[in-house]
Amino acid sequence: MREIILCKYGELVLKGANRSSFEAQLTRELRRRAHHFGAFKVHRAQSTMYIEPLNENADLEGMYESARDTFGISGITRAAEAEKNMEDICRVAKEYLPACLAGVKTFRVDAKRSDKRFPLPSPEIAAIVGGAILASVPGIKVDLHHPDATVMVEVREDKAYVHARQERGAGGLPRGSAGMGLLLLSGGIDSPVAGYMMAKRGLELHALHFESFPYTSERARDKVFQLGEELCRFVSRLHIHVISLTRVQEELVRACNEDYFTLLLRHFMMKLSQRCAEEYGCGALITGESLGQVASQTMEAMAFTGSAVTLPVFRPCIGLDKEEIIAIARRIGTYETAILPYEDCCTVFTPRHPKTKPVPEKVLAELAKVDEAALLEEAWQSLYTETRTVYDDYT
Ligand code: ATP
Ligand code: MG
Repeated sequence: MREIILCKYGELVLKGANRSSFEAQLTRELRRRAHHFGAFKVHRAQSTMYIEPLNENADLEGMYESARDTFGISGITRAAEAEKNMEDICRVAKEYLPACLAGVKTFRVDAKRSDKRFPLPSPEIAAIVGGAILASVPGIKVDLHHPDATVMVEVREDKAYVHARQERGAGGLPRGSAGMGLLLLSGGIDSPVAGYMMAKRGLELHALHFESFPYTSERARDKVFQLGEELCRFVSRLHIHVISLTRVQEELVRACNEDYFTLLLRHFMMKLSQRCAEEYGCGALITGESLGQVASQTMEAMAFTGSAVTLPVFRPCIGLDKEEIIAIARRIGTYETAILPYEDCCTVFTPRHPKTKPVPEKVLAELAKVDEAALLEEAWQSLYTETRTVYDDYT
């Protein structure tokens, strides 16, 4: 008996040309991941991705977990393969299902025939397989209305499949299907969540982190690399660009009114982010900002910092409470790293009385006190890149 992985993707949003590029991108992503787990065949038919191990050494469990975190998949299950006749389907059901149904008291069977030439209609297939389960799983009962488990029998083009533990997939759209975006990644809770949310909508991510050595430490930067690596569960691979803002911050402190430090710093961040995005082919910036969370995230402050760039700025956390952001961070596994107490460049030289309703002319007047172009160029020259992936052979 061979066990494979079946992944379903939602059909609703998929029309015309959209659909084939969506499928191609999802196939490509699953193949690149599968490469890491051994020899698999990944192919698609009838709105389903098939991931089939080609030998005993293929790590089905590892691949299953990886596919469950792959955007574009709405439902996923491991399934046992049977020949397309009732005798073999019942044999596989008896062999495969007792372990899947351990601890389950009630079940029902649903059958689906995408091959309409199969001689039995679905209700009959379900009834026969139900009988086989009753005979092989001691104590289990049928409950058509509120079963603990639903067993599926799918009669498809070449084979039939039996499974009982379909789960929800990661949802969203396949990696890269919406283009590329640059995530401004701090060491905080919010920005990894923002990256996750936009990757879910099909953006392939690059990340940009600003450091301010020696005011920020190596540990703070390593924490950001760690967060990037944790995101790879979903985004597969992340190029993390790092730019030093040390000189910018020192100049702002030397020349400008303290109340404007944060706004001015964020102005520099946005300008450098846009340059980085353009350099690496990203069509949007992504931040973890949430309306009203801190002084620099008022509507007026964001209007000012947003006006430094022409690229769209995606702020998927904008309408979320901190608790809601934390819940997502926990679910995606970035929370524990994010709360490690290291400094961020935004938290060094923070004004005592930051402007929450900045008047743009006044901020620009402060900005004019430093050589903006020279500082931008100097900061840009400090850029270096580290790449993180959990799939060491992902190319
Ligand atoms: P986070 O929890 O993500 O750090 P925050 O609530 O602390 O966010 P800010 O520090 O004001 O908020 O930052 C707002 C957003 O600006 C962050 O979500 C992130 O996208 C970006 N940002 C802040 N600091 C940095 C940094 N050092 N490098 C890159 N981006 C940053
Ligand atoms: Mg922060």
